[in-house]
Amino acid sequence: MNPSNDFQGKAIIISAPSGAGKTTLVNKLLEAKLPLLFSISACSRNPRDGEENNKDYYFLSIEEFQQKINTQEFIEWEEVYKGNFYGTLKKEIERIWKKKKHVVFDVDVIGGVSLKEYFNEDALCIFIKPPNLEVLAQRLKKRNSDDKESIKKRIEKSFEEMKSMDKFDKIIVNDKLSTSSKDIIEIVEKFLM
Ligand code: ADP
Ligand code: 5GP
Repeated sequence: MNPSNDFQGKAIIISAPSGAGKTTLVNKLLEAKLPLLFSISACSRNPRDGEENNKDYYFLSIEEFQQKINTQEFIEWEEVYKGNFYGTLKKEIERIWKKKKHVVFDVDVIGGVSLKEYFNEDALCIFIKPPNLEVLAQRLKKRNSDDKESIKKRIEKSFEEMKSMDKFDKIIVNDKLSTSSKDIIEIVEKFLM
């Protein structure tokens, strides 16, 4: 899939268990003055405080999401948490590559593996690993965006997600933020050269 003749867009896929620091590191990467744009996913959950439609996500109702599944508008989609659907729209990649930018994805681990299969050698997939599960739990609590039940589900899911780590091109342990930010920028810069 390359809508432009002279620009081969690449895909940078960032995946991790929820709370490991994907969003934080994706933001550091986007601030790094590389030719990158964030792939805005569609999702069916409600916006959190401070989240904006068409910026953080394309917030859709379940019916609207289902409609886009039926019309095959997604590269990949998943019910990441029960009742909450998330997916990468084909149109989003076209939008970004037309601007001659490479795409950055923040997706869950299964989505990351699917996108790597789709983009193949044009993609670099990076797994963000929390230093350990206690730190992961602390970060989820500190973020203060999920209730107790949701945090429990996210931690349970992380056990399975850790098992897919070896399917990724690179693993970054997100312990000290200054180190992991530097690492991710260097790795991506090298891949884009
Ligand atoms: P994810 O997008 O993977 O769910 P976030 O980027 O939202 O994770 O990070 C979860 C929480 O942990 C946030 O409150 C964030 O500020 C914090 N955080 C991220 N990276 C670090 C780090 N290296 N050290 C300490 N706290 C961090
Ligand atoms: P949150 O609700 O915390 O924003 O996101 C929950 C999970 O869904 C995160 O792991 C996030 O990376 C993932 N996610 C966001 N967009 C997509 C997407 O388009 N596809 C998939 N598979 N996962 C996504």
